[in-house]
Amino acid sequence: MHPHISRRAFLKLCGGTAAYLGLSQAWVPRIALALEQAAKRPPVVWLSLMACSGCLESFAKSVNPSTAEILLGIISLNYQETIMAAAGKDAEANLQATIEEGGYIVIAEGAVATGIPEALMIAGKTSIDYTREATSNAAAVVAIGTCATYGGVQAMKPNPTGAKGVSDALGIETVNIPGCPPNPDTIVSTIVHYLLFGKLPELDGKGRPTFAFSQKVHDNCERRAHFDSGQYVEEFGSEEEAKGYCLYKMGCKGPETHSPCPLTLWNSKQNWCVGSGNPCIGCMEPEFWDKFAGFYERLPDVPVPGFVGVKTSADYIGSTLVTATVAGVGIHAIASAASGRMKGKPESEEGSED
Ligand code: SF4
Ligand code: SF4
Repeated sequence: MHPHISRRAFLKLCGGTAAYLGLSQAWVPRIALALEQAAKRPPVVWLSLMACSGCLESFAKSVNPSTAEILLGIISLNYQETIMAAAGKDAEANLQATIEEGGYIVIAEGAVATGIPEALMIAGKTSIDYTREATSNAAAVVAIGTCATYGGVQAMKPNPTGAKGVSDALGIETVNIPGCPPNPDTIVSTIVHYLLFGKLPELDGKGRPTFAFSQKVHDNCERRAHFDSGQYVEEFGSEEEAKGYCLYKMGCKGPETHSPCPLTLWNSKQNWCVGSGNPCIGCMEPEFWDKFAGFYERLPDVPVPGFVGVKTSADYIGSTLVTATVAGVGIHAIASAASGRMKGKPESEEGSED
């Protein structure tokens, strides 16, 4: 058993991570062994760049394992401005010592100011110089949140500071875990993958781990049967909203957003945006803000099964597909049941004790 993590949290972590990484439950003992035998917790340097600290707050709300369990049992957080005990020169000395030793993981939160470099100064250095130095001897750089990955709200037009994501600003390869905020499960699973296999997970063309970002919100949404059947909410407070109809006409960006939100959920796996009745705002996409605001405006011409190659509109779909409701609901009830494996408790946890 891991010395710093309760049995329940440990089994949840191992089982949940196996499912999230697309591994069978047969991998659970190997994940457990990798975590137990990690001779040295990987040192982590957490950079706070042009950010609102929401990414750190999301990470701090991790429950299984808890933040304390992650910090004490999985990683060694050598530098993080907000929560580290050291301050001033002592803190910078910690950072320098970690850089010199090498083999550490950088987790970067926030964008880099490239147009007006002085817009963000840390320890007397611009964010470009500071980030370049901090990543210079790293084993891996993981950019978390939409600001660190693609610029986020800081890069919204007219972008006066020339804000960019870490990869673009420095010309280096990063693992990109976008989101406003990013999901803590994805961050933890990426680190566990590194411990388990000694390398980072497979990435897509935008630097995102494929285990998390290969599908769109729309692919796994519990309201998808209503989309396919032409059943839409047209007004908040309506009967259709109460029935849980599709939020496409209310501006949902799920059809163009790569994210595992319907599977991982949020807030200790309690719920997610669309589940709570709000349209997805596309916060995990590279062009979030400029492309996806306003949040309640409809995406144009979203393809619908059976209408491939045909220019579609929600009104057309709504008037044409109502007769297909029963079939559509049936098909996606099966799909939803399949996706339930990600939301439920890992098999390994059943019957476990604290
Ligand atoms: S448009 Fe949004 S609410 Fe409707 S099915 Fe797709 S993701 Fe779900
Ligand atoms: S459902 Fe959409 S808006 Fe909500 S967190 Fe996921 S990607 Fe972001």
